[in-house]
Amino acid sequence: MRPEGRAAGAIRPFDARPRATTRSPVASRRTDVGAITREERLAGALLGLLVGDALGVPYEFSPPGRIPSRDAIEMTPPPSFARAHGRVPVGTWSDDGAHALCLLASLLESDRLDLDDFGRRLVAWYRQGAMAVGGIVFDVGIQTETAIHRLIDGVPASQSGASDEWANGNGSLMRVAPLALWHRGSDEELVQDAHQQSVVTHGHPRAQVCCGLYCVWLRRILEGHAEPWSEAVATVRRVYDGSPQYRDELESEVRPDDPTLGEGTGYVVDTLRSVRDVTASEASYEDVVRAAIVLGNDTDTTACIAGAVAGARYGARGIPERWLAHLRGREIVDPLLERLARRG
Ligand SMILES: [Mg+2]
Repeated sequence: MRPEGRAAGAIRPFDARPRATTRSPVASRRTDVGAITREERLAGALLGLLVGDALGVPYEFSPPGRIPSRDAIEMTPPPSFARAHGRVPVGTWSDDGAHALCLLASLLESDRLDLDDFGRRLVAWYRQGAMAVGGIVFDVGIQTETAIHRLIDGVPASQSGASDEWANGNGSLMRVAPLALWHRGSDEELVQDAHQQSVVTHGHPRAQVCCGLYCVWLRRILEGHAEPWSEAVATVRRVYDGSPQYRDELESEVRPDDPTLGEGTGYVVDTLRSVRDVTASEASYEDVVRAAIVLGNDTDTTACIAGAVAGARYGARGIPERWLAHLRGREIVDPLLERLARRG
């Protein structure tokens, strides 16, 4: 499907999942210039997710050979580039960011993971543009849209997501980061909740495992671990010790130690691998999200998921000011961010 041919409400080919001008009051509070505080990491992760998504939107669906040179990747692409979603203003997050904010709002207001509440919020996004900038929905994955229709038809959120092997797009991985930012339970409980939030749209164990591993990885970054990926892999191996189905998915399909490079596609395993690679090879928020977009294909989602990791790692101050200045929808995210920060 040609990106320039996509209009409002258009459907992705594969659930490819295949400001205001002021900074957040949360992001601007820092007491130690040298160390990155947890508060800064939380703000960095959430804003990094949204900036990565918005930065990647114009490049969505482009093969890597058509992506502009790395240094030219900005919120506004070079004039010669045929951007996707041409009617969408620069700095607008897409379904990725909106779903992540739906999850965060649900967690903050329910004070627990309430699948039916989260499902209602996804429906509100789809129907009324809840958590979408300006209330405009311009992108939805096939698998997610199918699940939302099942929710509308009254199917419980715990059963609304497809679970066949072909239903392994990255649509539940792209929105899960807030769970790790919000969660105070054990690693086992975090993994279990990561699985559960996935099944609302993506019920296959493979998508669940990717969400579980990603959440523990983010938690280790928030904790300041030197080797957060390795630590997270070791943790989920331990968590899955008594769960052969999940352990098999981790070792046979996700293969976290497999050096095969990610290709920026909408397949959940490839997405996680792509994010792992760009965060390992780059040393700043800017470089991580640009490297994610250079991979082409599902650029907004790869940059969104990588952006949360890089934002947590480098803090909100690591996100270029010029990108934060272009991010729309601060009136939506800032109140949620302040509530998340107060919670600690
Ligand atoms: Mg998107």
